[in-house]
Amino acid sequence: MIGYLNGQYLPQENIVISPEDRGFLFADGIYEVIRSYSGKLFRSKAHLDRLSHGARALQFNQTDFSYLESVCEKLILENCLTQGDAVIYMQVTRGVAPRSHAFPPIETPLTVYATAKSFQPHLQESETGIQVILVPDQRWARCDIKTIGLLANTLAHQRARNSQATEGLFVRDGAVMEGTHSNVMAVMDGKVITPPRTNYMLAGITREFVLGLCGDLSIPFSETPLYESDILKADELMIVGTTVEVTPVIAINGENIGSGTPGPITRKLQKAFHQTTQTVNFFPP
Ligand code: PLP
Repeated sequence: MIGYLNGQYLPQENIVISPEDRGFLFADGIYEVIRSYSGKLFRSKAHLDRLSHGARALQFNQTDFSYLESVCEKLILENCLTQGDAVIYMQVTRGVAPRSHAFPPIETPLTVYATAKSFQPHLQESETGIQVILVPDQRWARCDIKTIGLLANTLAHQRARNSQATEGLFVRDGAVMEGTHSNVMAVMDGKVITPPRTNYMLAGITREFVLGLCGDLSIPFSETPLYESDILKADELMIVGTTVEVTPVIAINGENIGSGTPGPITRKLQKAFHQTTQTVNFFPP
């Protein structure tokens, strides 16, 4: 496998990161995950714009990562991933410096790492739907930054796995925010409802895309807070994200949502999403 580190393409086993990297010491970094379908990147510009948003929020010395698009393309080619599905992981940290809470000198180069590997879509979960649990949101107040500091997410996700569920949905002050690695959408009275963008959730690229699909398909939608009590009465529920695409949720905390099977609007959105990713030229880039 060939990976990328700071301008060089190297065999994965030769990629070495310093123990003084601020990503390792402080989780002082951001990341992105982009899907490719048959070698074509899906929504790469939106992902790289979100990386810039994070870099600005963390006051990195570089905030334009548009060049990473060609890095992703080269990794796809070098790793023979032009057929089928793949996932590209990118991480940018504040670089290497002796451990100190203060930022290192502004000229310290960022550490930029990327890797690509083949991806198996979760077909069974897309087909039958998944169970989720509600978990208290113990994250910080800048969930809009896609930071590599994911401990609250991994703890919550593991809690879900330990309860035989596939995803945990974060609840803050009675409102459902998002999943540990996905956004959430409910269907109530024929309308798709998803929590509004705030600093307490990640502005998902898939979320934005699926709202666009709702528009295209004339499915009414709104970005409105989703309270725990509402969500339990939803007709349908789904999670959306780069790896989960559009996955139906059939139960929360062991209680069925609607009929306990994937609902018709979820299926419509799944189908439209799938049709888009199967066309060679995605719209828009
Ligand atoms: N929310 C969180 C916390 C995530 O980690 C992710 C993706 O990893 C998402 C939402 C979905 O975002 P996207 O659709 O951009 O993958």
